[in-house]
Amino acid sequence: MTSQDSEDGEAARDDRSGGSRPARPAADDPPSHGRPAAVEFRGVTKIYNQGTPREAVAIRDVSFTIPDLPDRGEISTFLGPSGCGKSTVLRMVAGLEPQFPPTRGTVHVLGREVVGPGADRGMVFQDYTSFDNRTVLGNVTFGLECQGVPKRTRDAEGREWIQRVGLDPHRDAAKYPHELSGGMRQRVAIARTLVLRPRIILMDEPFGALDPATRLDMQDLLVRLWREVEATVLFITHSVEEAVYLGDRVFVMATTPGRIAAEIRMSAAASPARETQIEPWFHEQVSRLQAQLEVIEAAASRPGE
Ligand code: ADP
Repeated sequence: MTSQDSEDGEAARDDRSGGSRPARPAADDPPSHGRPAAVEFRGVTKIYNQGTPREAVAIRDVSFTIPDLPDRGEISTFLGPSGCGKSTVLRMVAGLEPQFPPTRGTVHVLGREVVGPGADRGMVFQDYTSFDNRTVLGNVTFGLECQGVPKRTRDAEGREWIQRVGLDPHRDAAKYPHELSGGMRQRVAIARTLVLRPRIILMDEPFGALDPATRLDMQDLLVRLWREVEATVLFITHSVEEAVYLGDRVFVMATTPGRIAAEIRMSAAASPARETQIEPWFHEQVSRLQAQLEVIEAAASRPGE
């Protein structure tokens, strides 16, 4: 990994801790008290259709560590052009085929090598993945049902999570997915994942299909819920603004082959998305990342690189 952490990370920390806002150290990792990392990639390469004419190297020699911070967790965002391997990385953490297993290297989650999907990880996708024939409550409680949790308990927990994601447990619980807006459906998807209390939450462009205003609301919701559940979030986005606002850590990925080009530490989001996104440090950080991405994209479009 080529890390530009020191230079960009320092600048980000200085900018974001300015004014009267209390500063959280950004360039150094807070102590993880010797706990195994939340997610660790060591020299991971993925080649699809290896040995066939359709062979494709999706990611090559990717290594990174996301610490497991006690009582907090953190949000890591993955930013990069299409095809740089973001989904491959995320779905490998989830233990989903065909992304998993890696062709070379190892993926560890909470100190254990990934051998397949597990209850310690939950995933939220961009496309609304609700069951059309189940109500909101039926969707939110589906995982609990699979775990054999009694109906009364799972319905109570389901209603609690419906409320937590900003839906109305009385009015919305009995609705079906086709009766909901895109934003509401993603709230259901988030509730369905968080009700299972995963330690690691994997989000593949979950807000990519939403209109800009709903997207900001959802970003605020995520920051609020993440503080409550203290999980580690891995979040893929195409939006530089979203990556900067949500990320405690931004992984910038490059393509051909897919790899991590930079890892940048950020301070935690201190105020709502609408307020944060008009602050000067925010614009500066977005411009810096945008410029970095343009260099990566230009290099990828040059033949032979
Ligand atoms: P991103 O999420 O950044 O758009 P992906 O991880 O989806 O990137 O894909 C990385 C590369 O691997 C792309 O070139 C893509 O075409 C290829 N790829 C992804 N999934 C498969 C697959 N199941 N079979 C073959 N190639 C794949």
